[in-house]
Amino acid sequence: MLKTVKTSAKKTHVEVTNLVIPGLNDTDEMFEKLTDFLADINPLIPLHFSRYHPNFRISNPVTQEKTLYRAAQIARRKLKHVYIGNIPSDTHNQTTCPTCGKLVVERAGYTLLKMSVTNGLCNFCGSETGVVTS
Ligand SMILES: [Zn+2]
Repeated sequence: MLKTVKTSAKKTHVEVTNLVIPGLNDTDEMFEKLTDFLADINPLIPLHFSRYHPNFRISNPVTQEKTLYRAAQIARRKLKHVYIGNIPSDTHNQTTCPTCGKLVVERAGYTLLKMSVTNGLCNFCGSETGVVTS
């Protein structure tokens, strides 16, 4: 999977979703490894940490929200666009400009509310955002 990301990121827009499963891939070391890997390719690659809910195949407990926040905190040290998925709070699904810090993509769940990006550039400061608008 990681090799595919590396190859594809050179040619097209890539986003990575990491389903965080307690006891399987929820250590700081694993979050750091994934972060380092993506940051080496391009720090603008969006990374989503998704909350796991038990189903019939895997009976591990549901992912704690604090684990997702910790993962995001680690990833944000090197990546510009880090999101948390499958939790009620919407505040972690907003996109800010990596240069000026202003809110450029506002979402409610999966619904786009407001977009302040033109041709990938921030409408406020004109910097590259990594957001694909076409
Ligand atoms: Zn900006």
